[in-house]
Amino acid sequence: MSDKRKKRKFNAKRERLRLKRLAEDGRSKNRPEIPAGAVPADLSQQVPNNSWSPPPAFYVDVLFECVDCGSEETWTGEQQKWYYEVAKGSLYATAVRCDVCRQKRSEQKGRGDPRPIKHVGSLMKRIRVAIEPSLEEAGFEFDGGNEPKVWRSAWLDYSRPGLILRCLFEPCEGRLIAETLDEATECRVVANVELNFSRSATELLERVDEFTSFICDFLQSLPAIVDSPDGSDT
Ligand SMILES: [Zn+2]
Repeated sequence: MSDKRKKRKFNAKRERLRLKRLAEDGRSKNRPEIPAGAVPADLSQQVPNNSWSPPPAFYVDVLFECVDCGSEETWTGEQQKWYYEVAKGSLYATAVRCDVCRQKRSEQKGRGDPRPIKHVGSLMKRIRVAIEPSLEEAGFEFDGGNEPKVWRSAWLDYSRPGLILRCLFEPCEGRLIAETLDEATECRVVANVELNFSRSATELLERVDEFTSFICDFLQSLPAIVDSPDGSDT
């Protein structure tokens, strides 16, 4: 084999290995390739715009200076994914104010918080506030959950004798799902709401409220717990 051919073969092998590594890291399922540490974008979730420049295929942390107080801030890739894909922010918009100044500004304007859901944690918190009174009434106790501050799936577990209720946020599908699991391990979907169609923060909140009202309706349809004969209630 000539040196030239050997070199070509070697290069081809190296490229194959590189692509395999990228695929394993989930950084190049389809083109384009995603840099290490970047957050892959789901183009189907971005609000379409008529810009001549292509929409971002990934998000990387960006530094910016707050226009009000001048502090140096980071707008993380995770925050950008949330902003553009879940809160349906315009692709033309970027962060210009730090959290403190944004809060101050919205209070001065007296129109409340313009971004009531800032991340998955605040989404789950909103759900908890909405469903927990009904859950308590139906005899459920909070069993645990997670409150991720970044773009991760989130869950909340509640249980009462013989029944578990789990609320899930699936970031890849952009769905809120509530399921119950009974003693016979029968699974029942109580609510399944897609957040994708929301085009504004208001519509997003409507979707979340729809999800929680499905759960509250379900809870009201449940029979009351009857104390077991031996007096145990666990
Ligand atoms: Zn500031």
